Amino acid sequence: RAKEAGRGRCATFDPMMNDEIQHKTTLARDLRCALAGEGGLAVHYQPQIDLATGRVCGFEALARWTHPRLGNVPPIEFIRVAESSHLICDLGTWILREAAGQAKAWLAAGEPACKVSVNVSAAQIWASDFAADVARVLAETGLPPHLLCLELTESLLADHEEGRVLAALQSLKRQGVMLSLDDFGTGYSSLGYLTQLPFDTLKIDRVFIDGIAESSRSRELLRGIVALGHGLGLNLVGEGAEKAEEVAILRDLGCDEVQGFVFARPTIAAEALAYAHRCARAAERGGEGGATADR
Ligand code: C2E
Ligand code: MG
Ligand code: MG
Ligand code: MG
Repeated sequence: RAKEAGRGRCATFDPMMNDEIQHKTTLARDLRCALAGEGGLAVHYQPQIDLATGRVCGFEALARWTHPRLGNVPPIEFIRVAESSHLICDLGTWILREAAGQAKAWLAAGEPACKVSVNVSAAQIWASDFAADVARVLAETGLPPHLLCLELTESLLADHEEGRVLAALQSLKRQGVMLSLDDFGTGYSSLGYLTQLPFDTLKIDRVFIDGIAESSRSRELLRGIVALGHGLGLNLVGEGAEKAEEVAILRDLGCDEVQGFVFARPTIAAEALAYAHRCARAAERGGEGGATADR
């Protein structure tokens, strides 16, 4: 009879779901090992190009994980696992320290000042000691706060009262770090928060850039977003440009910076820096901006 009851319960259990839970549990366990120093975690850097000069003005730090058995796990996947297994704070702090340390190392080596942008999950912001973690990393690495940009998505606004979000962001602003709203336009439905929260930069999601070369309606939407951002005094970064025509349109519309495969994919620090040098040399040779699709 017990067997029957057991089988009854199993019947309500979706075996696919079971596999997925198993997979996530394995990933969480292995991610914990990676964070404990077993290796496999890395930070890649994607150059951000200043459209007015053609020079690289910043880098976005993006987490990479090579699993010992599964190989490269997409960031979307392991970040989600980290978020649901309370590992995101440790992972986030590790990436923050790596990226800030790298930016400071470049500065110390005489490279022109470039900001480094680090993605921050909502769960990190709500951890009581996030602002303290940021302060500690800045103190340890010696990176000037204005060269650190924290990228937050609209999702952090979803289930929190406005007052708490504002207080959290203000405490970060008091430290002098920059705040960027990532994936703008893809999440939250109200725009009211834009006037209240102390963002410095707005990252225009790839969905608003994809198609601008072909569609005048897409271009008009983008023009509106640029006007909105600039009207609020925000720096605008176009994300995910894949074509030279898209860059030309973004420049015409007055977008400040672009990040996308058309310029450079995320890569190891040394390669990202080498790309910045190529852009700087091209800009020095004169003429129109330094960065082009094939550099
Ligand atoms: P995101 O912060 O919006 O990062 C930009 C993503 O767009 C990156 O994907 C980048 O490789 C990709 N991308 C850049 N240019 C192009 C382009 O021209 N075309 C296309 N199709 N894609 C482009 P990636 O590295 O796979 O990261 C995906 C997401 O994972 C990030 O989106 C971010 O939300 C999250 N993520 C990555 N690293 C971290 C991290 O260290 N912490 C947290 N909390 N999230 C992270
Ligand atoms: Mg980002
Ligand atoms: Mg984004
Ligand atoms: Mg995105």
